[in-house]
Amino acid sequence: LAKEEGRNTFRFHTLHLQQESRERNDMLLRLRRAIRNDEFLLCFQPIYDLRTGRIAEAEALIRWRRPDGTLVPPARFIPIAENSDLIIDIGEWVFRKVVAVLQDLRGSGLAEDSLRLTLNVSPRHLMTRDTVQQWLSHLQRADVPAEALTLEITEGLLLDGNPATLRKLQAFSDAGMAIAIDDFGTGYSAMSYLKRFPIDYVKIDRSFISDIETSDHDKAITEAIVVMAGKLGLKTVAEGVETDAQHAMLRDIGCDFGQGFLYARPMLEQEFRVLLAQQQAAA
Ligand code: C2E
Ligand code: MG
Ligand code: MG
Ligand code: MG
Repeated sequence: LAKEEGRNTFRFHTLHLQQESRERNDMLLRLRRAIRNDEFLLCFQPIYDLRTGRIAEAEALIRWRRPDGTLVPPARFIPIAENSDLIIDIGEWVFRKVVAVLQDLRGSGLAEDSLRLTLNVSPRHLMTRDTVQQWLSHLQRADVPAEALTLEITEGLLLDGNPATLRKLQAFSDAGMAIAIDDFGTGYSAMSYLKRFPIDYVKIDRSFISDIETSDHDKAITEAIVVMAGKLGLKTVAEGVETDAQHAMLRDIGCDFGQGFLYARPMLEQEFRVLLAQQQAAA
């Protein structure tokens, strides 16, 4: 009986795997079509300076609007795209779109010179493509300074220590872009690389922020990250701020920036423009 069961389990797993890879392939096909048919869109989530309360930056977050109108969150398709070169096509689309939006905002006077847009760059993209020259000349043609962009990368990329990747990162940084470590605290969080690499921002992962009120442990970690980052000359961004109490605590700790539903959800470009206009009018 055990043997029989083992065989069945094995068959079940095989079928399961076959089905999974079929679903993945279907997804890749649909994503390829989505690029051709222009089904992606970017949302923008403002990031606030906790001292002044003003919008300092906004993160570009991709969405996929299927032909039937459903909006697919990135968690459903980015991990699949990341296992193929499709993530590079998506990444190039995001970069171009972000530059176009910046050009537009600056042209219409809605973006002060200090407003930056931040985009997520996948490790595979940075590792397998040398986009530095292309990206910099694209920015030049659009008359958008590299200083208006932040690239968000994950710790894994740095720990990998691939020299070519690090050279690219350095080149982007030398050109004026800011580099942010996303989801800080969830990986190895080896502090040493923060000094060795051209990092400007540390984004403290939402998992710490969400329990900051109830867990002394998470509060201590957040505080330690803020203090350490400050000593290394880096700015800190708290991700996923949802309550007033979290906001107050982060401000008291000395965290520089906040991003989260408390302040604003990711919004369409048009809504973001309205928000910027309101802020301008209030000033
Ligand atoms: P991330 O870069 O850490 O982005 C932050 C995520 O947290 C976003 O989810 C945002 O909507 C969500 N968030 C912000 N504030 C709050 C809050 O107060 N509460 C909660 N519960 N969530 C909050 P989103 O847009 O679903 O993106 C998820 C992840 O997908 C991103 O995590 C990023 O890793 C990836 N991603 C999104 N857009 C892109 C892209 O253009 N390229 C690449 N490579 N990855 C992307
Ligand atoms: Mg991010
Ligand atoms: Mg993040
Ligand atoms: Mg996160």
